[in-house]
Amino acid sequence: MTLAHGSTLLVASHNPGKVREIAALLAPHGVGVRGAAELGLEEPEETGTTFAENAALKARTAAAASGLVALADDSGLSVAALDGAPGIYSARWAGPKKDFSVAMARVERELQERVVQDRSAKFVCALALATPQGDVEIFEGEVHGQLVFPPRGGKGFGYDPIFVAEGLTQTFGEIDPAQKHAISHRARAFEKFARAVFAP
Ligand code: IMP
Repeated sequence: MTLAHGSTLLVASHNPGKVREIAALLAPHGVGVRGAAELGLEEPEETGTTFAENAALKARTAAAASGLVALADDSGLSVAALDGAPGIYSARWAGPKKDFSVAMARVERELQERVVQDRSAKFVCALALATPQGDVEIFEGEVHGQLVFPPRGGKGFGYDPIFVAEGLTQTFGEIDPAQKHAISHRARAFEKFARAVFAP
């Protein structure tokens, strides 16, 4: 699939921060962006079992409802010693109050209960691009690292304060956001997306 200069892409997210971030990435390519909330679209239930399935579900639903090509993302933290948890439930582990200190404490508790030393983890981002006809392409990015406790740093969001990327000593909550954005799972998925949809 290619995105032509002057085309409009629907970002299948109700998160204005995400819509803004994607708009900024696409602007240099001459692609305009609309948000799902702006078009009054409903958020589908995330019933998939993988990041890719949930991203595809969101993109396909939004494209069919709007008649526009739609881009959706799904992301989260996958902890090796917890068999990939919290994974697609990363946001849900924070509970209705979206309190990530609760979610990070649960990761620590579950690791202690398993009595294993392995603290390796990765952030995963799946981007799905869907046409109104139902064709879907997936682009995935990962960043590998180690978990540390207690959480450190207030610069990021979600699980950032317990994640130290490979080759670094500071957590994603401590480093400069620009440094995180250069190596993050989301940045890597976007690089693949951009290579695929924009002609060189
Ligand atoms: P989504 O927006 O439904 O895909 O939920 C993703 C969830 O995964 C977020 O609420 C965070 O908990 C977690 N997550 C995804 N990306 C990051 C990141 O870069 N840093 C920290 N947490 C993240």
